[in-house]
Amino acid sequence: MVKAIVGANWGDEGKGKVTDLLAQQSDVVIRFQGGANAGHTIINDYGRFALHILPSGIFYPHVTNVIGNGVALDIGKLVDELAQVEAQGVPAPRLIVSDRAQLLMPYHILQDSYEEARLGGRAFGSTKSGIAPFYSDKYAKTGIQVCDLFDEPRLRSRLTAAVELKNVLFEHLYHQPRVDAEALTEQLLSLRERIRPFVGDTVSFIHQALKDGKTVLLEGQLGSMKDPDLGIFPMTTSSHTLAGYGCVGAGVPPAAIEDVICVTKAYSSCVGSQTEPFVSEVTGQAGDELRRRGGDRGEFGATTGRPRRVGWFDTVATKYGCMVQGATQAALTCLDVLGYLDEIPVCTGYEIDGTVTDTFPTTPALLRARPVFTNLPGWKQNIRGCSDYDALPANAKAYVDFLERHIGTPITMVSTGPKREEMTRRTSKL
Ligand code: GDP
Repeated sequence: MVKAIVGANWGDEGKGKVTDLLAQQSDVVIRFQGGANAGHTIINDYGRFALHILPSGIFYPHVTNVIGNGVALDIGKLVDELAQVEAQGVPAPRLIVSDRAQLLMPYHILQDSYEEARLGGRAFGSTKSGIAPFYSDKYAKTGIQVCDLFDEPRLRSRLTAAVELKNVLFEHLYHQPRVDAEALTEQLLSLRERIRPFVGDTVSFIHQALKDGKTVLLEGQLGSMKDPDLGIFPMTTSSHTLAGYGCVGAGVPPAAIEDVICVTKAYSSCVGSQTEPFVSEVTGQAGDELRRRGGDRGEFGATTGRPRRVGWFDTVATKYGCMVQGATQAALTCLDVLGYLDEIPVCTGYEIDGTVTDTFPTTPALLRARPVFTNLPGWKQNIRGCSDYDALPANAKAYVDFLERHIGTPITMVSTGPKREEMTRRTSKL
């Protein structure tokens, strides 16, 4: 059976921690979309890791980790990350890289930076990892698949054609140096040797694993709000962040996905540009304090280090985020972070043009939305590390009950710290 672990919000919900925990009882963990543009923070017996491209199952010798065909594969970054985790004492993981995955090229990264610079104040706040140009090229059919690396004449001719187009843009739109297709081919051929042992037919592997009754985890990157179709377009990413996309990006059969675990934080955070709509944002001193106390080291991007915008829990966005994921259950992380507050505001409605709604709107209306808050009493207690849900303070449990009622998805896990064992199990009241 397939379980998906996906984000209900803007990303950084703590999916890495939940995947690392559930991987214990799983056989396969698959990344099915996105690239190295976001980081999953995992803290376990080996230390602290910010995984960008490797699946979060790499810490278990019994788990096979798969980089699915839907991923934007930066081979250089993959090779570096493998070396990094091995240097931190993790045994060489079992890994299969899809032969159909496409390669994120150095020219995608350049194009991303050039375009953000050209846009200036209108920039999207991209991480400049090349993700948007990569997916554009995939759908324009000028992308290069991993399998192309093993057919040199084909690689050369496809790369020459792709670079021809890039050079027109680079020279005439961005006034930047041309890319040398020949040098790039040589570089790819040498990197090819580093990934050769891992390349395989992941689709057949996964189908066989399912036939054998194995448990497969799909590990999502970012969250519902960043989906290009159902998110806050155009402040979205360029691949689908929804569990449903696992059927394409990993090749799992739709009917095999039995469980969709939506991860959401006890407050909100959002990376990206300041122009991005973020209705429940808290700014000023209160925002600085929440940012400083958030996550395991404050709310700062795992990939970029940039400060994340923070806000109170948003039930309008999260209810929608769980709906579009098809959530069967929700995991609430970072409840421990809120223990310093007398009162905790929760955004339970959006006021748009004088009317209050709890239905998540399209972007133009979202940009006009004002938050409607309900204040709940805090618990003023340090609950970090608590692993027994019943032992939590009454106000902390009332807070979780309130969120569950508003998002309409059973909250079955409540996390009380960044470490693997800092987790409680809860019986839903829905
Ligand atoms: P992901 O991309 O969804 O995996 O999330 P990130 O790793 O970017 O961000 C989640 C942050 O919260 C990381 O710093 C985690 O170590 C941290 N974290 C996860 N769960 C908890 C929790 O329950 N409490 C606290 N304090 N931090 C947590």
